[in-house]
Amino acid sequence: MMRELTIGQNLDGRLEIFAIGWNDLNIDGCIYHNWQTTANGGWSGWNQLRRVRRGKKIATGRNQDGRLEVFIIGEDNVVRHIWQTAANNGWSSWAQLGPSATSGKDIAVGRNQDGRLEVFVIGMDDTIFHIWQTAANNGWSSWARLGASTDTAKKLAVGRNQNGSLHVYRIGMDDGIYHIWQTAPSNGWNTWSRLGSTSDRGKFLVTGLNQNGRQELFTIGTDNGIYRTRQTTANGGSWSSWSRLGSTSNLAKYLALGQNLDGRLELFTIGTDDTIYHFWQTAPNGVWSSQSLLGTASNKAKRLAVARHQNGRIEVCTVGTNNRVYHFTQTAANNGWTGEQAMPAKYVNMNIIAVGNFSAANWDEARLGTRRTREIYGQVGLFVDQINEYFISAADAGGYANIDSDGEAESLTDDWTVDNHALDVFFVQTYAGSTIGLSRVDGPCDKDAKGMDGSVVAIESSPEITGLVTAHEACHYLGPGHKNDGTNLMNPSVPNDGNLTESQGNDMKNHCFVS
Ligand SMILES: [Zn+2]
Repeated sequence: MMRELTIGQNLDGRLEIFAIGWNDLNIDGCIYHNWQTTANGGWSGWNQLRRVRRGKKIATGRNQDGRLEVFIIGEDNVVRHIWQTAANNGWSSWAQLGPSATSGKDIAVGRNQDGRLEVFVIGMDDTIFHIWQTAANNGWSSWARLGASTDTAKKLAVGRNQNGSLHVYRIGMDDGIYHIWQTAPSNGWNTWSRLGSTSDRGKFLVTGLNQNGRQELFTIGTDNGIYRTRQTTANGGSWSSWSRLGSTSNLAKYLALGQNLDGRLELFTIGTDDTIYHFWQTAPNGVWSSQSLLGTASNKAKRLAVARHQNGRIEVCTVGTNNRVYHFTQTAANNGWTGEQAMPAKYVNMNIIAVGNFSAANWDEARLGTRRTREIYGQVGLFVDQINEYFISAADAGGYANIDSDGEAESLTDDWTVDNHALDVFFVQTYAGSTIGLSRVDGPCDKDAKGMDGSVVAIESSPEITGLVTAHEACHYLGPGHKNDGTNLMNPSVPNDGNLTESQGNDMKNHCFVS
């Protein structure tokens, strides 16, 4: 269940996906990664990239020595980074990027010819700032503005000329497309200039390098058409006129660019109908094909990221309209494609069952509780997918709206159930004594089984407490028992920090409700 993604490649050739998790509680999510266990091979599954550092935007680069480095715009807008401590290896902790905290709206990474990474962000004032490693694999400069305070951006992209000079593109607040490039590789910059005429306007940018060294830039026009332009000479400042890619009925809302092993560029798009398409050069540096479906018309996406396996096959990862991650892979380098395949992940579904007279505030609290559960379980890469809602009317609920004993809670779960493969969470008005929730440890998936076959949670008029209790009781049902640790979700008392350990997560992921 993801929101944004990007792909890096380890020095040993293994691809690694970095993603921002999806959660409908707020716009931010945890940062996850998922790596190939061998070059060209299968995937590890989703793991959190160091605990609870949320982000809005994400980008990745590779140091000269092969260590991957990930950059995010955090939930607080601050730019942060994390890096592999050795190539193909583990990770540092998250740190603020640069000697002073800088905030931004979007982020992109380039690598200088001498190997130094350079990061570009759209600042909170809509201008572009950059920061660079002072030596390859090393520390960072201070932040500096790239251009003047009038050089504003809605979108940015980083490319590289054939000679290694970085080349940055932006869409201004006027929708015009502008560019700037290093005057020499690993060197200073010239000034921003417009790419095309005042009628050439866009809202998205991706760039790549043709086999002959000429950069090619793609945009989505303000009419949603797809347009391209190309350098007329390698490293040159002169570009062709913008021309339309595909037909006037080919519209897009998202673009990602890949390159075949033989040098042919291939553009992947999400149409305005959410369908995934691609266009490819019919020969290196050559003309472009017409638009084709990638997969079938029923494969829909919100985001795309493209990389190339060590053996040259292009990999396209998508975030579906259901927030799940899928991928397509070329069956051989420069060749055709697999169909859409689900990226392995662990999901569990939950039922909210409101017992008795439920006010609007009670519903809000039950919904917040299950969504908080989604956030908490996301820490260990267990994704709460569907949250279904049911109610037992006051007349039918009888005394079950107010639970007087654990035996009555068990009877409630025995008498009522939802006939689906999802964990039942019964929300009641009160629970006698100091108990505010009850669940069996490692409960059955046969909900007609004897004994407690759901979780019972009392509405506490405190969404935070109800969230922790819902996550705690449902966690019991999925396997884990208590853990005496005030930071852990499974501490016997609330409030706590809601943390879960990897081994608790593995226990939960092995439950029969999890698929
Ligand atoms: Zn407990």
